[in-house]
Amino acid sequence: MKIKNKITKIRAFVLFSIALALVPVGGQPPNDGKEITIISVEKSAEFVATLYELELDCLFEWEGRIYALARPQDLEGLDRSAVPYFFETHKFPALKHPQLSVLSSINGEYHSYKEIEADLDSLQAAHPNLAKVYVIGRSLEKRNIYALKISDNVSLDEEEAEVFFLGCHHAREWISVEVPYLLGKFLLENYDTNAEVRRLVNQSEVWIVPLVNPDGLEYTIHYYRYWRKNRRLNADGSYGVDLNRNYGYLWGYDNKGSSPEPGSAVYRGTAAFSEPETRAVRDLFLQKNFRAMITYHSYSQVILYPWGYTETPSGKDSLLRQIASQMSALMQPVNGRLYEFGQASAKLYLTNGTTDDWTFGTAGIPSFTIELPPIDQLWGGFFNPEVDIQTIFRENLPAALYLIDWSIQNFGFSDSAAKRDAARLRFTHHLKMHSTEK
Ligand SMILES: [Zn+2]
Repeated sequence: MKIKNKITKIRAFVLFSIALALVPVGGQPPNDGKEITIISVEKSAEFVATLYELELDCLFEWEGRIYALARPQDLEGLDRSAVPYFFETHKFPALKHPQLSVLSSINGEYHSYKEIEADLDSLQAAHPNLAKVYVIGRSLEKRNIYALKISDNVSLDEEEAEVFFLGCHHAREWISVEVPYLLGKFLLENYDTNAEVRRLVNQSEVWIVPLVNPDGLEYTIHYYRYWRKNRRLNADGSYGVDLNRNYGYLWGYDNKGSSPEPGSAVYRGTAAFSEPETRAVRDLFLQKNFRAMITYHSYSQVILYPWGYTETPSGKDSLLRQIASQMSALMQPVNGRLYEFGQASAKLYLTNGTTDDWTFGTAGIPSFTIELPPIDQLWGGFFNPEVDIQTIFRENLPAALYLIDWSIQNFGFSDSAAKRDAARLRFTHHLKMHSTEK
Protein backbone atom coordinates (compact mmCIF):
# COMPACT_ATOMS: atom_id res chain seq x y z
CA MET A 1 0.00 0.00 0.00
CA LYS A 2 2.74 2.38 0.96
CA ILE A 3 4.83 1.57 -2.07
CA LYS A 4 1.81 1.90 -4.30
CA ASN A 5 1.14 5.34 -2.88
CA LYS A 6 4.68 6.34 -3.58
CA ILE A 7 4.53 5.11 -7.13
CA THR A 8 1.32 7.02 -7.72
CA LYS A 9 2.88 10.10 -6.24
CA ILE A 10 5.96 9.71 -8.38
CA ARG A 11 3.78 9.31 -11.44
CA ALA A 12 1.80 12.42 -10.67
CA PHE A 13 5.05 14.15 -9.98
CA VAL A 14 6.65 13.19 -13.29
CA LEU A 15 3.56 14.33 -15.12
CA PHE A 16 3.67 17.51 -13.14
CA SER A 17 7.29 18.02 -14.16
CA ILE A 18 6.26 17.80 -17.78
CA ALA A 19 3.62 20.42 -17.16
CA LEU A 20 6.19 22.72 -15.59
CA ALA A 21 8.58 22.27 -18.47
CA LEU A 22 5.85 23.38 -20.81
CA VAL A 23 5.10 26.77 -19.38
CA PRO A 24 5.22 28.89 -22.52
CA VAL A 25 7.67 31.75 -22.62
CA GLY A 26 5.55 34.26 -24.48
CA GLY A 27 2.02 35.45 -23.93
CA GLN A 28 1.64 33.83 -20.55
CA PRO A 29 1.00 35.49 -17.22
CA PRO A 30 3.90 36.65 -15.13
CA ASN A 31 3.61 33.95 -12.55
CA ASP A 32 6.65 32.14 -11.29
CA GLY A 33 5.97 28.94 -13.21
CA LYS A 34 9.01 28.91 -15.42
CA GLU A 35 11.38 29.85 -12.63
CA ILE A 36 10.38 27.03 -10.35
CA THR A 37 12.84 24.23 -9.82
CA ILE A 38 12.51 20.95 -8.00
CA ILE A 39 14.93 20.34 -5.21
CA SER A 40 15.43 17.67 -2.61
CA VAL A 41 16.66 17.93 0.93
CA GLU A 42 17.76 15.16 3.27
CA LYS A 43 14.95 14.34 5.66
CA SER A 44 16.06 15.51 9.08
CA ALA A 45 14.04 17.27 11.74
CA GLU A 46 16.11 20.40 11.34
CA PHE A 47 15.87 20.60 7.53
CA VAL A 48 12.16 19.80 7.53
CA ALA A 49 11.59 22.57 10.04
CA THR A 50 13.43 24.98 7.75
CA LEU A 51 11.39 23.91 4.71
CA TYR A 52 8.30 24.57 6.76
CA GLU A 53 9.54 27.91 7.99
CA LEU A 54 10.38 29.05 4.47
CA GLU A 55 6.96 27.80 3.32
CA LEU A 56 8.29 25.73 0.45
CA ASP A 57 5.77 23.60 -1.39
CA CYS A 58 6.77 20.08 -0.44
CA LEU A 59 5.78 17.42 -2.94
CA PHE A 60 6.56 14.13 -1.22
CA GLU A 61 9.07 12.07 0.67
CA TRP A 62 11.15 9.46 -1.18
CA GLU A 63 13.94 7.31 0.15
CA GLY A 64 14.90 9.62 2.96
CA ARG A 65 14.65 12.86 1.04
CA ILE A 66 11.95 15.53 0.88
CA TYR A 67 11.18 16.85 -2.62
CA ALA A 68 9.96 20.40 -2.89
CA LEU A 69 9.27 23.18 -5.36
CA ALA A 70 11.55 26.18 -5.03
CA ARG A 71 11.41 29.64 -6.50
CA PRO A 72 14.59 31.72 -6.70
CA GLN A 73 13.76 33.42 -3.40
CA ASP A 74 13.27 30.01 -1.79
CA LEU A 75 16.74 28.93 -2.91
CA GLU A 76 18.16 32.09 -1.37
CA GLY A 77 16.36 31.23 1.86
CA LEU A 78 17.83 27.73 1.84
CA ASP A 79 21.29 29.16 1.22
CA ARG A 80 20.86 31.57 4.12
CA SER A 81 19.82 28.72 6.39
CA ALA A 82 22.72 26.59 5.15
CA VAL A 83 20.45 23.74 4.16
CA PRO A 84 22.14 21.57 1.51
CA TYR A 85 19.89 20.69 -1.44
CA PHE A 86 20.10 19.01 -4.84
CA PHE A 87 18.43 20.11 -8.04
CA GLU A 88 16.33 17.15 -9.11
CA THR A 89 14.79 18.02 -12.44
CA HIS A 90 17.35 16.09 -14.51
CA LYS A 91 16.35 12.86 -12.82
CA PHE A 92 13.05 12.72 -14.62
CA PRO A 93 13.43 11.48 -18.18
CA ALA A 94 9.84 12.38 -19.00
CA LEU A 95 11.01 15.97 -19.21
CA LYS A 96 12.72 15.09 -22.48
CA HIS A 97 9.40 14.15 -23.97
CA PRO A 98 7.18 17.17 -23.55
CA GLN A 99 4.88 15.95 -26.30
CA LEU A 100 3.51 13.50 -23.74
CA SER A 101 1.66 16.36 -22.17
CA VAL A 102 -0.96 16.37 -24.90
CA LEU A 103 -2.18 13.00 -23.63
CA SER A 104 -5.39 13.37 -21.70
CA SER A 105 -3.93 11.17 -18.99
CA ILE A 106 -1.69 13.91 -17.70
CA ASN A 107 -4.08 14.36 -14.78
CA GLY A 108 -4.31 10.64 -14.12
CA GLU A 109 -7.50 9.49 -12.42
CA TYR A 110 -8.50 13.07 -11.69
CA HIS A 111 -11.07 14.79 -13.86
CA SER A 112 -10.29 17.43 -16.43
CA TYR A 113 -13.03 19.77 -17.62
CA LYS A 114 -13.83 17.58 -20.63
CA GLU A 115 -13.81 14.46 -18.51
CA ILE A 116 -16.23 15.83 -15.92
CA GLU A 117 -18.48 17.05 -18.74
CA ALA A 118 -18.51 13.59 -20.32
CA ASP A 119 -19.02 11.79 -17.01
CA LEU A 120 -21.90 14.03 -15.93
CA ASP A 121 -23.54 13.38 -19.30
CA SER A 122 -23.06 9.64 -18.81
CA LEU A 123 -24.73 9.77 -15.41
CA GLN A 124 -27.67 11.62 -16.92
CA ALA A 125 -27.92 9.13 -19.78
CA ALA A 126 -27.75 6.13 -17.46
CA HIS A 127 -30.28 7.53 -14.96
CA PRO A 128 -32.68 9.71 -16.99
CA ASN A 129 -35.38 9.72 -14.29
CA LEU A 130 -33.04 10.66 -11.48
CA ALA A 131 -30.28 12.84 -12.95
CA LYS A 132 -30.34 16.02 -14.95
CA VAL A 133 -27.37 18.14 -16.00
CA TYR A 134 -27.76 21.91 -16.19
CA VAL A 135 -25.46 24.62 -17.43
CA ILE A 136 -25.68 27.27 -14.72
CA GLY A 137 -23.22 29.70 -16.29
CA ARG A 138 -20.03 30.07 -18.27
CA SER A 139 -16.51 30.76 -17.12
CA LEU A 140 -14.37 33.65 -18.33
CA GLU A 141 -12.88 31.40 -21.00
CA LYS A 142 -16.39 30.26 -21.97
CA ARG A 143 -16.37 26.83 -20.43
CA ASN A 144 -19.68 25.59 -19.07
CA ILE A 145 -20.27 25.44 -15.36
CA TYR A 146 -22.35 22.34 -14.76
CA ALA A 147 -24.82 21.42 -12.08
CA LEU A 148 -26.06 17.87 -11.61
CA LYS A 149 -29.49 17.61 -10.05
CA ILE A 150 -30.49 14.33 -8.45
CA SER A 151 -34.02 13.48 -7.31
CA ASP A 152 -36.96 11.28 -8.16
CA ASN A 153 -39.04 13.00 -10.86
CA VAL A 154 -35.93 14.96 -11.59
CA SER A 155 -37.52 17.15 -14.24
CA LEU A 156 -40.03 18.52 -11.72
CA ASP A 157 -39.32 21.12 -9.07
CA GLU A 158 -40.99 19.33 -6.17
CA GLU A 159 -41.60 20.56 -2.65
CA GLU A 160 -38.59 18.78 -1.25
CA ALA A 161 -35.52 19.74 0.72
CA GLU A 162 -32.84 21.06 -1.61
CA VAL A 163 -29.22 20.47 -0.65
CA PHE A 164 -26.16 22.00 -2.29
CA PHE A 165 -22.67 20.52 -2.83
CA LEU A 166 -19.84 22.43 -4.51
CA GLY A 167 -16.31 21.61 -5.57
CA CYS A 168 -13.17 23.20 -6.96
CA HIS A 169 -13.36 26.91 -6.32
CA HIS A 170 -9.58 26.63 -6.15
CA ALA A 171 -7.95 25.16 -9.22
CA ARG A 172 -5.16 23.10 -7.63
CA GLU A 173 -7.49 21.37 -5.15
CA TRP A 174 -8.15 18.47 -7.51
CA ILE A 175 -9.64 16.16 -4.87
CA SER A 176 -12.43 18.70 -4.34
CA VAL A 177 -13.83 17.88 -7.80
CA GLU A 178 -13.86 14.17 -7.10
CA VAL A 179 -15.70 14.08 -3.77
CA PRO A 180 -18.90 15.85 -4.88
CA TYR A 181 -18.84 14.10 -8.26
CA LEU A 182 -18.52 10.69 -6.59
CA LEU A 183 -21.34 11.60 -4.19
CA GLY A 184 -23.64 12.09 -7.19
CA LYS A 185 -22.47 8.87 -8.79
CA PHE A 186 -22.99 6.98 -5.55
CA LEU A 187 -26.56 8.24 -5.06
CA LEU A 188 -27.49 7.30 -8.63
CA GLU A 189 -25.81 3.91 -8.73
CA ASN A 190 -27.18 2.77 -5.38
CA TYR A 191 -30.72 4.06 -5.76
CA ASP A 192 -32.17 0.74 -6.91
CA THR A 193 -30.45 -1.47 -4.38
CA ASN A 194 -30.14 0.64 -1.22
CA ALA A 195 -33.38 1.61 0.52
CA GLU A 196 -31.73 4.38 2.54
CA VAL A 197 -30.28 6.01 -0.57
CA ARG A 198 -33.65 5.70 -2.27
CA ARG A 199 -35.39 7.40 0.65
CA LEU A 200 -32.89 10.27 0.66
CA VAL A 201 -33.09 10.77 -3.12
CA ASN A 202 -36.89 10.54 -3.15
CA GLN A 203 -37.32 13.10 -0.40
CA SER A 204 -34.73 15.64 -1.44
CA GLU A 205 -33.31 17.48 -4.43
CA VAL A 206 -29.54 17.27 -4.42
CA TRP A 207 -27.63 19.80 -6.52
CA ILE A 208 -23.96 19.19 -7.21
CA VAL A 209 -21.59 21.64 -8.90
CA PRO A 210 -18.31 19.70 -8.90
CA LEU A 211 -16.25 22.20 -10.88
CA VAL A 212 -16.85 25.87 -10.15
CA ASN A 213 -13.49 26.95 -11.65
CA PRO A 214 -12.98 25.06 -14.94
CA ASP A 215 -10.50 27.58 -16.41
CA GLY A 216 -8.30 27.33 -13.37
CA LEU A 217 -8.44 23.54 -13.33
CA GLU A 218 -7.35 23.33 -16.97
CA TYR A 219 -4.51 25.71 -16.22
CA THR A 220 -3.28 23.49 -13.39
CA ILE A 221 -3.33 20.48 -15.68
CA HIS A 222 -1.53 22.01 -18.64
CA TYR A 223 0.62 24.84 -17.29
CA TYR A 224 1.09 25.25 -13.61
CA ARG A 225 -0.06 22.68 -11.07
CA TYR A 226 -0.19 25.17 -8.20
CA TRP A 227 -2.58 27.68 -9.74
CA ARG A 228 -5.36 28.67 -7.32
CA LYS A 229 -7.54 31.47 -8.70
CA ASN A 230 -9.64 31.81 -11.84
CA ARG A 231 -8.06 33.16 -15.04
CA ARG A 232 -9.15 36.82 -14.94
CA LEU A 233 -6.62 39.17 -16.55
CA ASN A 234 -6.41 41.97 -13.97
CA ALA A 235 -5.80 45.64 -14.69
CA ASP A 236 -2.18 45.44 -13.55
CA GLY A 237 -1.36 42.52 -15.85
CA SER A 238 -1.55 39.87 -13.15
CA TYR A 239 -3.98 37.00 -13.42
CA GLY A 240 -6.76 35.66 -11.31
CA VAL A 241 -9.43 36.43 -8.74
CA ASP A 242 -9.80 34.16 -5.71
CA LEU A 243 -13.34 32.88 -6.25
CA ASN A 244 -13.65 32.06 -2.57
CA ARG A 245 -13.18 35.74 -1.70
CA ASN A 246 -15.57 37.08 -4.34
CA TYR A 247 -18.97 36.31 -2.78
CA GLY A 248 -21.21 39.14 -1.69
CA TYR A 249 -21.66 38.84 2.07
CA LEU A 250 -19.47 41.56 3.63
CA TRP A 251 -17.25 41.32 0.57
CA GLY A 252 -13.95 43.07 1.20
CA TYR A 253 -14.76 43.42 4.91
CA ASP A 254 -11.07 43.93 5.67
CA ASN A 255 -7.68 43.33 4.10
CA LYS A 256 -6.85 40.43 6.39
CA GLY A 257 -9.53 38.05 5.15
CA SER A 258 -8.97 38.94 1.50
CA SER A 259 -6.68 41.20 -0.51
CA PRO A 260 -7.28 44.25 -2.69
CA GLU A 261 -3.99 43.50 -4.51
CA PRO A 262 -4.59 41.77 -7.87
CA GLY A 263 -1.38 39.76 -7.65
CA SER A 264 -2.35 38.27 -4.29
CA ALA A 265 -3.43 34.63 -4.04
CA VAL A 266 -6.47 35.86 -2.11
CA TYR A 267 -7.39 38.78 -4.40
CA ARG A 268 -11.10 39.43 -3.98
CA GLY A 269 -11.79 41.03 -7.37
CA THR A 270 -13.04 44.50 -8.24
CA ALA A 271 -16.50 43.97 -6.74
CA ALA A 272 -18.63 41.31 -5.10
CA PHE A 273 -19.63 38.76 -7.75
CA SER A 274 -17.38 40.38 -10.33
CA GLU A 275 -16.60 36.89 -11.68
CA PRO A 276 -18.91 34.78 -13.88
CA GLU A 277 -18.07 31.66 -11.89
CA THR A 278 -19.36 33.05 -8.57
CA ARG A 279 -22.34 34.60 -10.34
CA ALA A 280 -23.30 31.17 -11.68
CA VAL A 281 -23.31 29.74 -8.15
CA ARG A 282 -25.18 32.78 -6.81
CA ASP A 283 -27.88 32.59 -9.48
CA LEU A 284 -28.58 28.90 -8.90
CA PHE A 285 -28.61 29.43 -5.14
CA LEU A 286 -31.11 32.28 -5.36
CA GLN A 287 -33.42 30.24 -7.57
CA LYS A 288 -33.60 27.45 -5.04
CA ASN A 289 -34.46 26.98 -1.39
CA PHE A 290 -31.37 25.20 -0.24
CA ARG A 291 -31.51 23.89 3.32
CA ALA A 292 -27.82 23.14 3.69
CA MET A 293 -24.57 23.45 1.80
CA ILE A 294 -21.09 21.92 1.71
CA THR A 295 -18.28 23.39 -0.37
CA TYR A 296 -15.22 21.16 -0.69
CA HIS A 297 -11.65 22.44 -0.61
CA SER A 298 -8.25 20.99 0.27
CA TYR A 299 -6.12 20.58 2.28
CA SER A 300 -6.24 20.50 6.15
CA GLN A 301 -8.79 17.80 7.02
CA VAL A 302 -11.18 20.05 8.91
CA ILE A 303 -14.85 21.01 8.87
CA LEU A 304 -15.38 24.77 8.99
CA TYR A 305 -18.50 26.84 9.47
CA PRO A 306 -19.32 30.59 9.52
CA TRP A 307 -18.24 33.07 10.29
CA GLY A 308 -15.01 33.43 8.42
CA TYR A 309 -14.97 37.23 8.45
CA THR A 310 -14.98 37.63 12.22
CA GLU A 311 -14.00 35.65 15.26
CA THR A 312 -17.31 36.49 16.89
CA PRO A 313 -19.54 33.39 16.85
CA SER A 314 -22.72 33.54 14.78
CA GLY A 315 -26.16 33.39 16.38
CA LYS A 316 -26.42 29.77 15.27
CA ASP A 317 -23.07 28.65 16.54
CA SER A 318 -24.42 25.76 18.60
CA LEU A 319 -26.45 24.34 15.71
CA LEU A 320 -23.50 24.57 13.32
CA ARG A 321 -21.19 23.03 15.89
CA GLN A 322 -23.62 20.22 16.55
CA ILE A 323 -23.95 19.32 12.85
CA ALA A 324 -20.20 19.57 12.27
CA SER A 325 -19.57 17.38 15.28
CA GLN A 326 -22.03 14.78 13.97
CA MET A 327 -20.39 14.79 10.56
CA SER A 328 -16.93 14.41 12.05
CA ALA A 329 -18.10 11.54 14.26
CA LEU A 330 -19.53 9.74 11.23
CA MET A 331 -16.36 10.23 9.20
CA GLN A 332 -13.77 9.05 11.65
CA PRO A 333 -14.71 5.34 11.83
CA VAL A 334 -14.44 4.94 8.03
CA ASN A 335 -10.66 5.22 7.76
CA GLY A 336 -9.70 6.38 11.22
CA ARG A 337 -9.05 9.96 10.14
CA LEU A 338 -10.23 12.68 12.50
CA TYR A 339 -11.69 15.79 10.92
CA GLU A 340 -11.50 18.53 13.49
CA PHE A 341 -14.21 21.17 13.29
CA GLY A 342 -14.85 24.74 14.31
CA GLN A 343 -15.66 28.27 13.27
CA ALA A 344 -13.64 29.07 10.13
CA SER A 345 -11.97 32.21 11.46
CA ALA A 346 -10.75 30.46 14.58
CA LYS A 347 -9.93 27.07 13.14
CA LEU A 348 -8.16 28.21 9.97
CA TYR A 349 -7.75 31.96 9.47
CA LEU A 350 -9.82 35.07 8.77
CA THR A 351 -11.54 35.06 5.38
CA ASN A 352 -14.14 37.29 3.81
CA GLY A 353 -16.23 36.91 0.65
CA THR A 354 -16.37 33.12 1.01
CA THR A 355 -19.13 30.85 -0.26
CA ASP A 356 -20.25 29.70 3.17
CA ASP A 357 -20.34 33.17 4.75
CA TRP A 358 -22.53 34.21 1.82
CA THR A 359 -24.97 31.26 1.89
CA PHE A 360 -25.20 31.47 5.68
CA GLY A 361 -25.44 35.27 5.71
CA THR A 362 -28.01 35.32 2.92
CA ALA A 363 -30.23 32.36 3.78
CA GLY A 364 -29.23 31.37 7.31
CA ILE A 365 -28.75 27.75 6.30
CA PRO A 366 -26.12 25.44 7.77
CA SER A 367 -23.10 26.00 5.52
CA PHE A 368 -19.81 24.17 5.69
CA THR A 369 -16.40 24.25 4.10
CA ILE A 370 -14.81 20.84 4.26
CA GLU A 371 -11.06 20.97 3.81
CA LEU A 372 -10.24 17.49 2.56
CA PRO A 373 -7.07 15.58 3.46
CA PRO A 374 -4.19 15.57 3.79
CA ILE A 375 -3.73 17.23 7.12
CA ASP A 376 -0.70 19.28 6.07
CA GLN A 377 1.92 19.92 3.44
CA LEU A 378 4.29 17.21 4.52
CA TRP A 379 1.58 14.63 3.91
CA GLY A 380 1.25 15.80 0.32
CA GLY A 381 -0.50 19.17 0.40
CA PHE A 382 -2.50 19.51 -2.80
CA PHE A 383 -1.26 16.15 -4.07
CA ASN A 384 -3.44 13.25 -3.10
CA PRO A 385 -2.32 9.95 -4.63
CA GLU A 386 -4.88 8.57 -7.03
CA VAL A 387 -5.46 5.56 -4.78
CA ASP A 388 -6.69 7.95 -2.09
CA ILE A 389 -9.53 9.39 -4.19
CA GLN A 390 -11.93 6.61 -3.24
CA THR A 391 -10.66 6.53 0.34
CA ILE A 392 -11.32 10.22 0.86
CA PHE A 393 -14.70 10.01 -0.85
CA ARG A 394 -15.73 7.03 1.31
CA GLU A 395 -15.00 8.83 4.56
CA ASN A 396 -16.85 11.94 3.38
CA LEU A 397 -19.91 10.02 2.21
CA PRO A 398 -21.61 9.52 5.61
CA ALA A 399 -21.27 13.23 6.36
CA ALA A 400 -22.92 14.18 3.07
CA LEU A 401 -25.72 11.66 3.58
CA TYR A 402 -26.21 12.94 7.10
CA LEU A 403 -26.58 16.52 5.87
CA ILE A 404 -29.11 15.46 3.22
CA ASP A 405 -31.07 13.61 5.89
CA TRP A 406 -30.82 16.58 8.26
CA SER A 407 -32.22 18.79 5.49
CA ILE A 408 -35.15 16.43 4.98
CA GLN A 409 -35.86 16.24 8.71
CA ASN A 410 -35.80 20.01 8.98
CA PHE A 411 -37.74 20.70 5.82
CA GLY A 412 -40.28 23.36 6.53
CA PHE A 413 -38.11 25.43 8.79
CA SER A 414 -36.74 28.51 7.13
CA ASP A 415 -36.30 31.46 9.39
CA SER A 416 -34.45 33.45 6.80
CA ALA A 417 -36.72 32.92 3.82
CA ALA A 418 -37.59 36.61 3.73
CA LYS A 419 -33.94 37.61 3.64
CA ARG A 420 -33.24 35.23 0.81
CA ASP A 421 -36.30 36.37 -1.14
CA ALA A 422 -35.13 39.96 -0.86
CA ALA A 423 -31.71 38.96 -2.19
CA ARG A 424 -33.38 37.03 -4.97
CA LEU A 425 -35.34 40.07 -6.10
CA ARG A 426 -32.16 42.08 -6.41
CA PHE A 427 -30.78 39.55 -8.86
CA THR A 428 -33.91 38.66 -10.79
CA HIS A 429 -32.39 39.71 -14.08
CA HIS A 430 -29.63 37.15 -13.66
CA LEU A 431 -31.94 34.22 -13.22
CA LYS A 432 -31.35 32.33 -16.41
CA MET A 433 -30.64 28.67 -16.38
CA HIS A 434 -30.41 26.36 -19.35
CA SER A 435 -30.74 22.62 -19.33
CA THR A 436 -28.24 20.94 -21.61
CA GLU A 437 -31.23 19.07 -23.12
CA LYS A 438 -29.18 16.23 -24.47
ZN1 LIG B 1 -9.56 26.02 -1.42
